Formats: sequence, structure tokens, C-alpha cells
Amino acid sequence: MGKCRNHSEKETAYICMKHKYYVCELCIACQDPEIYCKYRSSCAIFFLEKEKRKEKRPEDRS
Ligand SMILES: [Zn+2]
Repeated sequence: MGKCRNHSEKETAYICMKHKYYVCELCIACQDPEIYCKYRSSCAIFFLEKEKRKEKRPEDRS
């Protein structure tokens, strides 16, 4: 567990393995989604961000 990089009072378990920062559920977003990341396949941030996008635009192809 760590503190969100944008909300210093918020404890969160979501961590960017590549850049080593924590984000809370409000701040979840991959910093550079266009760039290859070796942690991506196991990245909760990338996964949840993708899920969020899906909710907003259900017609969007994954
Ligand atoms: Zn936050």
C-alpha cells in the first residue's frame, strides 16, 4: 500500500510498476499507454483504465 501521487491523504494499492507511483481509484490512468510496458499484462492500472473506457464507450472495440 502507498499514497496516491495526487492525493497524499489517500491510501491505495494501485501501483505503476514501471514508474513506481501509486494512484487512487479516482486517478487511475496509465502515464504512457502508447508506449510499450513490460508490466502491462499484469498492470491493474492499465486494466482498470481500459474497463473505465469500456463503460463510457461500449461501442469501442477493445
Ligand atoms: Zn488520487
